[in-house]
Amino acid sequence: MFSKIRNRLTMQYTMVMAIFLLAFIVISYSGVLWVLYREEQSDIQAFVAEEAREHLPLLRGEVKADIVDREYDNSGDKVFYYVYDRNGQMAAAEFPSKQIRSNVETVIHNWKVPDGVGKIKHFKLDNGDKAIIILASMHIMDGGVVLGRIYVGENITSYYEMLKTTLIILAVAAIIFLFAAAYLGHLLAGKAIIPLKQSFFRQREFTADASHELRTPLSILLTSVDAIQLDDDNKLTVFSIQTLDDMKNEIRRMSRLVSDLLTLARADTEVTSIIKEKFDLYALAEQIIRSLKPLADAKGVELEFESQEDIFVFADKEKINQLLLILIDNAIKYTPSRGNAKLSIGIKEGKKPCFTITVIDTGVGIPEEYKELVFERFYRIDKSRSREQGGTGLGLSIAKWIVEAHGGTIKVESNPGMGSSFIIVIPSPNFNGMS
Ligand code: ADP
Repeated sequence: MFSKIRNRLTMQYTMVMAIFLLAFIVISYSGVLWVLYREEQSDIQAFVAEEAREHLPLLRGEVKADIVDREYDNSGDKVFYYVYDRNGQMAAAEFPSKQIRSNVETVIHNWKVPDGVGKIKHFKLDNGDKAIIILASMHIMDGGVVLGRIYVGENITSYYEMLKTTLIILAVAAIIFLFAAAYLGHLLAGKAIIPLKQSFFRQREFTADASHELRTPLSILLTSVDAIQLDDDNKLTVFSIQTLDDMKNEIRRMSRLVSDLLTLARADTEVTSIIKEKFDLYALAEQIIRSLKPLADAKGVELEFESQEDIFVFADKEKINQLLLILIDNAIKYTPSRGNAKLSIGIKEGKKPCFTITVIDTGVGIPEEYKELVFERFYRIDKSRSREQGGTGLGLSIAKWIVEAHGGTIKVESNPGMGSSFIIVIPSPNFNGMS
């Protein structure tokens, strides 16, 4: 139980840490991306304005055309420009690298961006690489007359590559931090639950000791009441007889509660271990049915038993006895008169041999939302009805513990108002034909 809490705490701690780290990476990456974008925009705006100014004399015809074809490679922050005269003829240029030139020129031919605004374009190159370019354009004006147009660009792939590398480093660092956080979280969670563990163990010990100590006085009380009732010299009034009967019922109820508490407290401290032996489940079940028949008859519930003979299983006989008693007792308790309660047992052969116990009744049933809760300690759907029937709310939690201690499963199927079925499957070697 505590290792589950510890693991859950560690998980939660790690999840919170992961969310923080992710948020940190996303925010810082977007921040850097935004700053870079703003920087590129202002650079390209300044660049296009400067180049437009520089090429004004050229378009006025004051200097000679200059077309430079430099063979840049695609790395580094390489700039380029194209100057066109008013007839659309190229007047000057400094070309980008060959790998991106055709892409750049296609963008220029379809240019629709306002003057001075940078546009970022991603190109996929023939060799599979990616290139990121920022481009801007501007009309070259001479006193209100358009003389031509300039396009400038810059290869900014390297900045984004750097950013990508930073992101990878951040992600790797985040994963390392996350592992470290999970480890630390595990250590801290272990420390945090120490006081919880101590108080739980103290409480468990107290429950076990108290229940153990209460058993003797309770049985003395019961025998004392019996002795008073059996004393012929006693002239008891009707009221006293009734009171003694009520006392006896309450003492029995308390004894059951104390014994259930003791069972669970021992189960928690793992003092009670499961002692498996080979026994005939059919014989045990038949004997339990026989002993509970008077109780069922008194309530007007028909108690049935369905099983083949000789079902040898390997389990804790005493605990299985207790399990059957709890389930059949509940079936009788929560079934009104003229109803039915049936116990079926069987074996399942195959890869994982097991035996099954099914207790079906036609009683009040269990609504869907309570199906898990009824296995919790002290949980009763209808407290007054359970109390009236002498219930303590511990039966099914003991039943669940017994089944799980055997490595089995217990589930309930129910139609409220129509009845319930408790289905138990417990692994056991197959003794078929070996009895
Ligand atoms: P209790 O001592 O109250 O019977 P249990 O742990 O055995 O305690 O059962 C828990 C609750 O589950 C009961 O109070 C009852 O509301 C419900 N319950 C158990 N068995 C049945 C059943 N066969 N039919 C209907 N309700 C049941």
